Amino acid sequence: MSIEQVERHGAHNYHPLPVVVTHGDGAWVTDVAGRKYLDMLSAYSALNQGHRHPRILAAAREQLERVTLTSRAFHNDQLGPFLERLSQVSGFSRALPMNSGAEAVETALKAMRKWGYTKRGIPADKAEIIVARDNFHGRTITIVSFSTEASYREGFGPFTPGFVVVPYGDAAAIEAAIGPNTAAVFLEPIQGEAGIIVPPVGYLKQVRAACTRAGVLLVLDEIQTGLGRTGRMWAAEHEDVRPDGITIGKALGGGVYPVSAFCANDDVMDIFAPGTHGSTFGGNPMAAAVGRASLDVLVDEKLPERAAVLGESFRAALRAIGSPKIKEVRGRGLLIGVELHTDAGTARPYCERLMDLGVLCKDTHEQVIRFAPPLVIHERDIDWALGHISAVLA
Ligand SMILES: *Cc1c(COP(=O)(O)O)cnc(C)c1O
Repeated sequence: MSIEQVERHGAHNYHPLPVVVTHGDGAWVTDVAGRKYLDMLSAYSALNQGHRHPRILAAAREQLERVTLTSRAFHNDQLGPFLERLSQVSGFSRALPMNSGAEAVETALKAMRKWGYTKRGIPADKAEIIVARDNFHGRTITIVSFSTEASYREGFGPFTPGFVVVPYGDAAAIEAAIGPNTAAVFLEPIQGEAGIIVPPVGYLKQVRAACTRAGVLLVLDEIQTGLGRTGRMWAAEHEDVRPDGITIGKALGGGVYPVSAFCANDDVMDIFAPGTHGSTFGGNPMAAAVGRASLDVLVDEKLPERAAVLGESFRAALRAIGSPKIKEVRGRGLLIGVELHTDAGTARPYCERLMDLGVLCKDTHEQVIRFAPPLVIHERDIDWALGHISAVLA
């Protein structure tokens, strides 16, 4: 029923697995027929705290009974405590709250450009931002302007200029691309949508050093990798790298509400003055209450540490399957990609078979199955899923 309605009345911009979810709880969801499935995608890492975490629901309910929207024309009593908590968790003195990940990225791009003009003296309209091949940062016209994926771009031009694309994982290429008009380098610490591409050890550190030497910003997109997913609060911590700014989203809303932000220190954030940027819903009291509870849950329940431990054993067990179909198992924490050999066929049919067995996951980039369960998942549930995964991949 629902599927036909979506087919008939929706745009065909997705190709979902044919499961219709009615309920969610922790790492599990239930479909219209009452069948239970283990959610091993967690809404592309937007459900790190699991479905309907009680503390996040309580914060949302409490806020529903008070006030839900003020706009930034007025103050609300939730935004201050949220921004302070976010500053503690991010290590950046300031944050600019938005709603979706793409909006946080757009905010970061504006900040990078304006910083380039006002602080680096780049001539008007000449600022360049260096990005990586196979990046994924969202779906706006400007963001797909620097995508290298044909399906994201075709038919959507003309595109926004001002981006320089270099190979991912090659610090020398970034160093070579930095010029007098470069404002910033903008990267994912691990490329998620590209197929869980973990760059070579030392890459981010070398890029950080190159940016510092050249006096340009390094901004990292932690929308998918951040908030505990990779086993640290921020993926850049694996290399002890401090970027000049980060974009965050997805799990910042705890699976309940869209919440995103661009975080940076004063020297970057002070390029924004009243009138230069904004969002009707950004920083609204619902988002702020939910965002603060989402951060509290990650910290109090030590979910990054949990992701590190569970991810390590999950990856080891996936490798131990020893299937000739598997080319590589990679990732960090609970952001895991299983790349299949091309002669094993594409990843989608394996995801369909796993769905039939009660395990929900999603293919990315044809050959890769992504496993990114909620960080609250129980070890016994991972073991249960592993039984099915090894059966399907054997
Ligand atoms: C999901 C994602 C985005 C876009 O977030 P939306 O909320 O879908 O706009 C941006 N960057 C990365 C790395 C992502 O994974």
